[in-house]
Amino acid sequence: MVRKLIGLALSVAFLSMNVSAQDAKAVIADATKALGAESLTSITYSGSAANVSFLQSRQINMPLLPITNYVRAIDLSAPASRHTGNTNNPPGGAQTGPPAPGVFNQAVTAQQAVLTQPWTNQVELWITPWAFLKGAAANNATARTQRVDGKNYTVLSWSPAVKAPSDASYVINGYINDQKMVERVETWLQNDILGDMKVEATYTDWKDFGGVKAPAKIVQKRGGLPFFEVNVTAAKANPPDIAALIAGPAPAGRGGGGAPGGGGAPGGGGAPGGRGGGAGAPPAGGPPAGGGGRGQGGGAPAGGPPAAGAAQGGRGGAVPPVPGGGAPPAAGGGGGQRGPAAVTASAEKMADGVYRIIGGYVSLAIQMEDYIFVLEGGENDARSVANIAEIKKAIPGLPIRYVFNTHPHSDHAGGLGAYVAEGATIITHQNNKKFFEDAFSTPRTLLVKTDTLAKAQEAAKAKGQTVKVKVEGIGDKKVYKDKNHTVELYYMKTNLGTKKEPDYTPHSEGWMLAYLPKEKILFQGDFTIAAPPANDHVMQVMVPNVFDRLKLDFEKYVPVHAANPNVAQSRADVLKAIGREK
Ligand SMILES: [Zn+2]
Repeated sequence: MVRKLIGLALSVAFLSMNVSAQDAKAVIADATKALGAESLTSITYSGSAANVSFLQSRQINMPLLPITNYVRAIDLSAPASRHTGNTNNPPGGAQTGPPAPGVFNQAVTAQQAVLTQPWTNQVELWITPWAFLKGAAANNATARTQRVDGKNYTVLSWSPAVKAPSDASYVINGYINDQKMVERVETWLQNDILGDMKVEATYTDWKDFGGVKAPAKIVQKRGGLPFFEVNVTAAKANPPDIAALIAGPAPAGRGGGGAPGGGGAPGGGGAPGGRGGGAGAPPAGGPPAGGGGRGQGGGAPAGGPPAAGAAQGGRGGAVPPVPGGGAPPAAGGGGGQRGPAAVTASAEKMADGVYRIIGGYVSLAIQMEDYIFVLEGGENDARSVANIAEIKKAIPGLPIRYVFNTHPHSDHAGGLGAYVAEGATIITHQNNKKFFEDAFSTPRTLLVKTDTLAKAQEAAKAKGQTVKVKVEGIGDKKVYKDKNHTVELYYMKTNLGTKKEPDYTPHSEGWMLAYLPKEKILFQGDFTIAAPPANDHVMQVMVPNVFDRLKLDFEKYVPVHAANPNVAQSRADVLKAIGREK
């Protein structure tokens, strides 16, 4: 790996050549002309699109789901942007249940599209070819030539004034091809799981749509995963109705107006305990900073910049909260600096050497003979830091050897980095192994300076080392046993009992639960038994697996999303919820 990286660095050095500032201006002018954008103040394009509930979907590499009647409006003078469309997909983050009509509606408002404001909230505007060039012209872009996959590009780069939570600069690069068209734009956002997450959009098959040029095909990936696609069938320059298109449909709730999709899936709402970092909180820290720099106590840092999941959360209208998941996930992206509310945890003894760690997302700590086994890593770094401290207090003197992950959704994986830094091995279903290995090996230079894994990576780097990411991928069943305890891990098979597919395959295809036979404790990721009746997830997954297939003889029920009020639950609570009480 190291050799490969050095090789890559050398080839870039050989093949990339800086171009003078004067030439950067010429490159921008030429590309603007080639796009036919010299007198463009706004543009719309339309067609069909597709998106995914990022890091909350059934599969990590979930195929995108269709958006019809798609319209994108970009006002370059404000600047601001909105895209809208209709969906008819299985609802919820995990896309379970029968299709239901929905609305896709996402905006970057003029208030958000200020380069001193959080980058996450405005990236969707600046990665468009037109806004990218406008930003390049206004922000001292540099240019270099670079050969990528056998093709020559001139690469324009610039940085917004706002800095990442780590104080590092964000960078946005646009690749201009030999036809002088913007073929690709890339930047990076901080993410609790994916580290410095690459956001990459390609713009290909440029066509003339009645006097204005637009790419017929747009593909965006994040962290290398599918994120958004558009097939453009029409475009219009300087449309007279641009103001109405930017204003969007009358606010029937979400997605409208200023707030970036409050309540969307990942990143929404902020963690329990009020930690800054949710997508929902628009101008987190008050007014924009005055003189172009970052606001000390003004803009970004105070309230915590929105999580990297914000943009996705901004797709709020299309992404209702995850069913069965209790509170909407909070750790879509991360990198949010600590809000004023402290993240606290406490340990509740359930049995000898077994502690329920509560405060936010619930973990279970098990005192094995010579190590600690933790079930679930928490929703974000702050949660894991608090939980780990509490675990070490409850079980002093032993290392955390394992952290079991129920499934790879962002709110259940956002805190795993702290355990990686701790030297623990992540145990998860084999479907998630490569994803976690890659994600937690990614550099985390944009994350907050207090991010535990980022700090560990920095310390290792100073010693010429790397933080080793250990992930054990398991199959249908695995048992960890010593003279203290037995921990049984089971894969939740999908479609059991229903035989409906594929839209009914529930929640996650990398989903496991844990069972402690001696203590008769069932530990479970996303099913919170509140008031009966149980939701679809419970009925489609938990009942057929836990009761009918595995016949687990549990007495105590520990969901990761704690019940409200937060008390340990019993088998009777579950039976009542699923209508099987005697
Ligand atoms: Zn989930």
